[in-house]
Amino acid sequence: MADIDKLKITIDAEECIGDGACVDCAAETFALDDDAKAILLEGSTDDRAKILEAAESCPVDVITVEDKDTGEKLYPED
Ligand code: SF4
Repeated sequence: MADIDKLKITIDAEECIGDGACVDCAAETFALDDDAKAILLEGSTDDRAKILEAAESCPVDVITVEDKDTGEKLYPED
C-alpha cells in the first residue's frame, strides 16, 4: 500500500496562493489546476516524508495531513 493511501490530505483551495511549493516537493501528489489552485492527484507513490515536507512548505499553511488509521494530525501539529 502506498503511503498516500494511509493519509488523509486536505487543501483549502480558497486560501491557496498557487506558488507551487507543494508541487515542487511532492509532484506525484500535488498539482496546480487551471486556476492555479493546488489539487490532489490519484495514484501517487510519494512517500510520507515527502508529502509532509510538501505540507510544511506551504507558505499559507493550507495543507493538512492526517493518519487515516489513527486520526492523528500529522501536519500542522497542534
Ligand atoms: S504550497 Fe500551499 S499555497 Fe502553494 S500551491 Fe501548494 S497549497 Fe497552494
